Amino acid sequence: MTGKELVHAFAGNPLDRGTSIRHSGEKIDAMKELPSARYLVFHDLKVLTREGAIDYVDYSSLPKLRGDQIFLGTLKNVPYFAAQTDDADVGEFTDCRQVVRQENLSQSGIVAQARSMLAWHRKNPFCSRCGSETTLERGGQLRRCPACNATTHPRIDPVVIMLIEHPDDQNLCLLGKSQGRMANSNFYSALAGFVDQGESLEEAVRREVLEESGVFVDVLKYHSSQPWPFPSSLMIGFHGRARSTEISIDEKEMADVRWFSKEKVSSAINGQDPSIMLPGPGAIAHHLIKSWTENSASLESQKKVKVS
Ligand SMILES: [Zn+2]
Repeated sequence: MTGKELVHAFAGNPLDRGTSIRHSGEKIDAMKELPSARYLVFHDLKVLTREGAIDYVDYSSLPKLRGDQIFLGTLKNVPYFAAQTDDADVGEFTDCRQVVRQENLSQSGIVAQARSMLAWHRKNPFCSRCGSETTLERGGQLRRCPACNATTHPRIDPVVIMLIEHPDDQNLCLLGKSQGRMANSNFYSALAGFVDQGESLEEAVRREVLEESGVFVDVLKYHSSQPWPFPSSLMIGFHGRARSTEISIDEKEMADVRWFSKEKVSSAINGQDPSIMLPGPGAIAHHLIKSWTENSASLESQKKVKVS
């Protein structure tokens, strides 16, 4: 980071999450039918839009809803909720990635919160302890099992994403291409992976890079983070420097991993080199790569300290 904090797409949510009211189901329920309340309506996790922009609706014009309404927060005393409908014909429903391309950043933060919450509630209708049907409480902050009283909270899945530079030539960085639908394309990105249980972020970076590329990572530096609501990831971005150079890829996961020159990456990130495609500005990977091309990772050597 260079002193300026980056706010990525899906971050920058302007809502006050209602610290004083989010613990009171009664207060939240009382706001649902207010004429001022604004609803984001989803069908199949796509959001209701009109001419590309989010189409907020009020309580009286809501379509027939499925399930509970989720409290998102307030903005200038206006409460915001997310709701779902089975009726795909009430309007135009748009993929949330698409909305972000067209809307301003602050709207994308509201969409991220709503989509993640709805996806979690959809997946958790039953108690994981006894199998009974659970009910929503506190506007969606938790679900409770009426049979055994167990509670469960919406979850976030941390993912590390890292741009690693070469130990001897800081004009080279490590980019990979995943197996799957992009395997035959020329789309490369920063390496990334889910954090394991009982693992620090730093450990996750080193393990994922080693697994995917065979390269050992030396120093690391935190860059920025991005909510990624598909369904509930938090992308945590790092720059790092390798301490080995030989690549040996995990072929189950990766189609290719290579060292790319700063010159090539710079022209590709600006769309001037069609031989490789890199992530667009909606993704944190774009900014990790771009900031490295502009001022390198400026990594200082760090010693590991064990704290007991
Ligand atoms: Zn239960």
